[in-house]
Amino acid sequence: RSKQRGNNVVSIFTKTMLNQTHDILKFENSFRTALQEDQFKLVFQPQFRIQNGIELSGFEALVRWHHPDRGMVSPAEFIPLAEETGLIVELDRLVMRKACSMWSDCLKVSGACENLHISINLSAKHITESSMMRYIEETIDKYNIPLQSLYLELTESAFVNDPELAAARLKTLNKLGVHCAIDDFGTGYSSLAYLNNFPARSVKIDRSFIMGIKPGNDCAKLLESIIKLAHGLNMEAVAEGVETEQQLEILRELNCDTVQGFYLGRPMPKEEAQKLISDYKKINGP
Ligand code: C2E
Ligand code: CA
Ligand code: CA
Ligand code: CA
Repeated sequence: RSKQRGNNVVSIFTKTMLNQTHDILKFENSFRTALQEDQFKLVFQPQFRIQNGIELSGFEALVRWHHPDRGMVSPAEFIPLAEETGLIVELDRLVMRKACSMWSDCLKVSGACENLHISINLSAKHITESSMMRYIEETIDKYNIPLQSLYLELTESAFVNDPELAAARLKTLNKLGVHCAIDDFGTGYSSLAYLNNFPARSVKIDRSFIMGIKPGNDCAKLLESIIKLAHGLNMEAVAEGVETEQQLEILRELNCDTVQGFYLGRPMPKEEAQKLISDYKKINGP
């Protein structure tokens, strides 16, 4: 009897495994088709400096999958699978090309936007891959992107596996003139002591820290410490997921440098982003 039960367990287990394998294969196939048929599009979310009024500082490129049957698939859904299957390398390269091409168009249309930047997300595993470093250099060259206008966003987890190599890579990128931001700060496992060894330009504080802020509450105190910590290490503090005027006001009071969120601007198609840049130029002059 127990043997029979054992067999059942085994067969159910195998069936689930088969299903999973099947699902992963299906995912890989549709992902490759998506790459070939250009189903991945970028949207751009504006970022603003907030300490002297509200001033456009740049955009973050975010990927969208326009799936022919499933409609819009969120990156939160497919990026983990793309990482697991290794397909993320192709995706990050595609995003890099598309974002640089968009940015070079913006520069042509509205002249040099010296104070504006484009931020691109790099999956954690890429910081240690030298081929990715080379790809970044080549792409910047190809699209003629001013180096200081390119930011790479790397999550904390990128620094955990091999902190020494990650620190060396950051130094290389700095030498090249590319800025790096530590993304989703506060959600990973890296120790605060690490921060000192990572010469990043900015720290991007995760949305989960912004959601709960009220004047003077614990969340606001925690934010204040993170912002001070960033400034103490000569980094800019960036807050993501700012949805209300009150959150913006508190962040301004806590000396946060830059914010991004639905309150000031949602991710938008290239044409709208270009319009924001032209309006910015009109106010600030060429
Ligand atoms: P992330 O880098 O933390 O990006 C911010 C996410 O928060 C974006 O979701 C954005 O649309 C969303 N967001 C922005 N403002 C607000 C707000 O005020 N409220 C709320 N509730 N959400 C806000 P999205 O575009 O779905 O991207 C999710 C994650 O997927 C990103 O998190 C990033 O880790 C990853 N991702 C997106 N695009 C790329 C890419 O091109 N390459 C790589 N490697 N990862 C990407
Ligand atoms: Ca990001
Ligand atoms: Ca982020
Ligand atoms: Ca986040």
